[in-house]
Amino acid sequence: MVSTTTTLPAEALALLRARVDGTVLVEGSHGYAASFAPFNTAVVQRPAVVVVAESVADVVHAVRCAADLGLRVAVQSTGHGIGRPADGALLVVTSRLRRVRVDPVNRTAFVAAGNQWGDVLPLAQEHGLAPALGSSPHVGCLGYTLGGGVGWLARRYGFGSDTVLAFDVVTPDGALVRASEHDHPELFWALRGVGGGPFGVVVGMEIALHPVARVYGGNLYYPPELAGEVARRWRDWVAGAPDELTSSLVLIEYPPIPDIPEPLRGRSFAVVRGAWCGDPAQGAALLDDWRRWREPLVDTWADMPFGEVGSISHDPVDPMPAYVTTEQLDSLPDEALDVFVDGWQEHADGERFVVVAEIRHLGGAVRRGAAGAPNDRARTAEFVLEYVTVAADEARAQAVERHYTRTRDRLAPFATGATYLNFTEGAEKASRTASASGAAAWQRLRTLKSALDPANRFCHGFLVPPFDVPLAGADVPRPRQG
Ligand SMILES: Cc1cc2nc3c(=O)[nH]c(=O)nc-3n(C[C@H](O)[C@H](O)[C@H](O)COP(=O)(O)OP(=O)(O)OC[C@H]3O[C@@H](n4cnc5c(N)ncnc54)[C@H](O)[C@@H]3O)c2cc1C
Repeated sequence: MVSTTTTLPAEALALLRARVDGTVLVEGSHGYAASFAPFNTAVVQRPAVVVVAESVADVVHAVRCAADLGLRVAVQSTGHGIGRPADGALLVVTSRLRRVRVDPVNRTAFVAAGNQWGDVLPLAQEHGLAPALGSSPHVGCLGYTLGGGVGWLARRYGFGSDTVLAFDVVTPDGALVRASEHDHPELFWALRGVGGGPFGVVVGMEIALHPVARVYGGNLYYPPELAGEVARRWRDWVAGAPDELTSSLVLIEYPPIPDIPEPLRGRSFAVVRGAWCGDPAQGAALLDDWRRWREPLVDTWADMPFGEVGSISHDPVDPMPAYVTTEQLDSLPDEALDVFVDGWQEHADGERFVVVAEIRHLGGAVRRGAAGAPNDRARTAEFVLEYVTVAADEARAQAVERHYTRTRDRLAPFATGATYLNFTEGAEKASRTASASGAAAWQRLRTLKSALDPANRFCHGFLVPPFDVPLAGADVPRPRQG
């Protein structure tokens, strides 16, 4: 039975507080809301109880307490990718579980649940090694990896999830297990791509590091009027590009804030962004092709230490009310690119609906790793599109939702129907989980879920419904089979 209570019995709360070294907070406690303040401030949630874990043992106690009480369990690290709000649930906050150990001989690292990529990157770089992080060093290592993880080395080396050697997991019944190729192999399989939430709280992972010390990376900024031409040219440029090149096409409007450097601040651009992890001279030659075509307004492509890779996208660091949506495409006919560009150019009340529109080039090692992966369907697409915007109030948020729906409807004839799960947030995280997997993988995920969490108490991240058991609460959306 799953409890729908929003208050914890006093004895249970007292027992939890006695067992846990970290902080246990309920609504009304000092610091309750601050303890789970997310990066995405659009998320409003009211957990029944929050456990800010100080140790793995705290996570075990919290999950066991939830199991005893039949409480739903949600997990949060940075709050960059929250799904269904943790209302009425026990929320495990992992952000204080920070421990990184790099083994330069075996080219591996251990990373704890609260670490962000910015904690790992400099330690790995001391040895000329690179973790498979994404565009932002402030994203949580675990949340990112459990959803796949596409970064600037993706076409050469695959997703972040491909680097995982083992996960330490507190399963829904409160057992602490190590999942690897040899131990709990089915759980290990599921966590590498559809792992954000449904199968337990992951408290740490052992990952392989790539031998990458430097990349040739950056941005070519062209005027926004050239968006259509840049888009078509980028599509043709990446066709058949070597796997050392992972790039994206970005249409962006920079806010007029001091954090944004002067040539970019308050202006819009069509951008050719990415990184080349082969010989820098070859990378420069590839970019010269663009420079000969038209001189960009700003050109930041340069040979750089991999440790500076976060500067390529220079993603925002301060919390903001963000809204995202995504689609995947196998090809980019002119009509699809027109929808993409139109979707970015549309304004209402003088404001753009979409602040950042990005198409990332996948293929390469991402596609080669598709067979047998839990998110196999999402890994075969050649491109993944993401729209991101900031909406200050509810009215604007609703207008953005309508705009996203319109644009996705127009893109539907060109989209694969699969979803890259890391680019979902809010309700889409649950409703689109199933579309990441082919039929066999989805059946396998549900079989595992039925064994590990038959009551579906872990239903706040990706949603994998168990067989034969009513979902926890009628408000949990049934996943759409893509
Ligand atoms: C600015 C920005 C840049 C991004 N860049 C990229 C990118 O380049 N590539 C890419 O692939 N993605 C990218 N993402 C998406 C990001 O990888 C996902 O949103 C990811 O889920 C964030 O993880 P988190 O732990 O930081 O966030 P949180 O919101 O804390 O967690 C996100 C989800 O992961 C689950 N989760 C987190 N920790 C655990 C755990 N220990 N055990 C079990 N479940 C857990 C939670 O259930 C939650 O649903 C970006 C997001 C933002 C906002």
